[in-house]
Amino acid sequence: MGEKAYIPYAKQSVDEDDIREVVQVLRSDYLTTGPKIEEFEHTVAEYVGAKYAVAVSNGTAALHAACFAAGIGRGDEVITSPVTFAASSNCVLYCGGTPVFADIDARTYNIDPEDIRRKITCRTKAIIPVHLAGQPCDMDEIHRIAEENHLIVIEDGAHALGAGYKGKKIGALSDMTTFSFHPVKPVTTGEGGMILTDSEQLYQKLLLFRSHGITRDADFLKEDQGPWYYEQQCLGYNYRITDIQCALGISQMRKLDLFLAKRRELARRYHEALSDCGDIIVPYQSEEVDSGWHLYIIQVLRHDRREFFEKMREKGIGVNVHYIPVYRHPYYREHGYKDTHCVNAEKLYKHMLSLPLYPSLSFEDQKYVIDSVRQAAG
Ligand SMILES: *Cc1c(COP(=O)(O)O)cnc(C)c1O
Repeated sequence: MGEKAYIPYAKQSVDEDDIREVVQVLRSDYLTTGPKIEEFEHTVAEYVGAKYAVAVSNGTAALHAACFAAGIGRGDEVITSPVTFAASSNCVLYCGGTPVFADIDARTYNIDPEDIRRKITCRTKAIIPVHLAGQPCDMDEIHRIAEENHLIVIEDGAHALGAGYKGKKIGALSDMTTFSFHPVKPVTTGEGGMILTDSEQLYQKLLLFRSHGITRDADFLKEDQGPWYYEQQCLGYNYRITDIQCALGISQMRKLDLFLAKRRELARRYHEALSDCGDIIVPYQSEEVDSGWHLYIIQVLRHDRREFFEKMREKGIGVNVHYIPVYRHPYYREHGYKDTHCVNAEKLYKHMLSLPLYPSLSFEDQKYVIDSVRQAAG
């Protein structure tokens, strides 16, 4: 067989339109905190159907800001999934809170509402559901639990920009939803993130937190010492995003629906080709949700996963594992999670593998991946 170029598990799609938009900003007066920030925020807010949006420097900063705005602090427990990127629970630690891991549903791989109920204590303050692979969590049930227990819901939508839940878009459902614009995510700004909310009060807190806790807004100043005057009202950070990045984001948003359509088609083809492959479990698909197909996660049941993984990599196929259960990381083990064990998350971790999936993946390259998977699983 001829040399095949390496096929990564994910990849950005940046075209000449995107580049032109970025270059325009470089020639303009504002590189940061200019007009492109609000334009990008407005674009995403309108797309998902949320009232307010705050763009920040990355998806982790978005989660940190959301936890701050939710008032999470020492003594507060926040329930999240262990099958996620570490940022989903690190953000709780940043605020002095305690992440609590609820197990996943073995079918959907998303957080199991039943286990959320079991993990609630008098200290629980919030839930951070993660829409793994772009497939929305059982939000109706999560909202019911939140209402009954007076909890705040912050959705980690890093995988799920454009995904739908019962006729609404992810970003328009909960107190707050965060997105990431890292190159592997649904749309990219290089690095970037955003928090969506319908609450004016949360919105104001998020704005403060993004920029040192400082405001110049006359409506919020505690006094008026003159036209130069500004106030630091809380301890914020410099989590600002640049106009350069937002110009890229605005341009990318124009193509989001095309990206999603291609992802859906690729997922459909994987499904068709791998559903009958004895050793492979394909991802669960529900009628009620419209997945963003950020990842295509299969389970390899009888074959050794490590061997399978290495075989794929040798063939130039960038398979990956999403994710190592967060509590398994040495940092978490050393900080109180030594005995944490989520049965379904562990089972999934043992067998899971992400196949390449991104808008510019050609059907021909996908066929090569499919053939390789079937061969290795045969
Ligand atoms: C990518 C990701 C984040 C963090 O986003 P960054 O922009 O990389 O900081 C958070 N949660 C999940 C589930 C992610 O995949």
